[in-house]
Amino acid sequence: MSDNSVAFIQSELKSVKENCEKKVKDSKLVACVPAMVRVVLEQTQHKSIVVCLMFPDKYPDATILIELKSKTLSYKLLQGLTKVAEEEAKKYLGREQVLMVLKFIRNFIQENPLCVCSEEISFIKKDLLQDCDDIKLKQKLSQIILKVKKDQYFMNFKITIPDNYPFDQSSIEVADHNFPEPLTVNILAQANEIARRCVQPPLKKRPKDPPFEPKPAVRPVCEYMIRTCIKNYPAQKCPLCNEMALPENPQEIINEPNHEKFAERVYCGHTFHHGCLDIYMKTPPFTGGKKCPSCSNRIYHENWKVTPELAEARWAHQEARRRELDEVVDFLE
Ligand SMILES: [Zn+2]
Ligand SMILES: [Zn+2]
Repeated sequence: MSDNSVAFIQSELKSVKENCEKKVKDSKLVACVPAMVRVVLEQTQHKSIVVCLMFPDKYPDATILIELKSKTLSYKLLQGLTKVAEEEAKKYLGREQVLMVLKFIRNFIQENPLCVCSEEISFIKKDLLQDCDDIKLKQKLSQIILKVKKDQYFMNFKITIPDNYPFDQSSIEVADHNFPEPLTVNILAQANEIARRCVQPPLKKRPKDPPFEPKPAVRPVCEYMIRTCIKNYPAQKCPLCNEMALPENPQEIINEPNHEKFAERVYCGHTFHHGCLDIYMKTPPFTGGKKCPSCSNRIYHENWKVTPELAEARWAHQEARRRELDEVVDFLE
């Protein structure tokens, strides 16, 4: 390294020591010696990067060497960020580069808040979406916008990622859809419940459970919304009559809850026609509760919240009434 370089670096290090924490927001200077400058940039617990900068032989006429490390941000994101930061350093050839590069990295994270879920976003693109679907990232609003289709059905929804992700709760909103309204309300409530459970410990803690830690919500929420609901419901058959639970044409959807073709989603996630389910729930056997014919899980539903005993009693009462009527009919004959 030439004497000029050594002198230049000495002077730059002095300026870095004086100005780094003042001029680069959220920065902490850990090391500042000719061998390396090491700085921790931490905006939130998850938006945290260790930046290592090393001076090459021909510095400042060559670009400073950049290495980024993070326990929370993905490797792929760090690789991409390293590349754009190197490009940025080129703008300052012949001049001091350390603070400019640090500011650039800090601003990049600030302006791209969705970097905290970059790995989850790759998963959604790769494993959940198909060619007919669409995902857009609105970094300014910290939102992921999804448009998902299945046959003639579609649902457009957005997930808002809080600054302190994954510690604060993400929120999900449906912008537009052509699914049955009550089903959509149900899907959305469940999606927000999944997001809530990612950040709040369960009310009933079992003694053997490990201590609660907040979990990233984007992946489980999207798996539920896309795989379990949007891509699945339009293809589901009513487990009782084996016909499609939803009409093929969304314009024929029935939103009237007591209509016999109204699609009822029960606890296990299977969808029945209201009429089919009503008959099934009111017909014996009742012992052990009524079970879903598709998955054998007990059926829980607001509309049929009766104990097996009560269902049995109602059934007996109806039967007695039917016999009475039959007798009347016999008498008339
Ligand atoms: Zn049916
Ligand atoms: Zn089921």
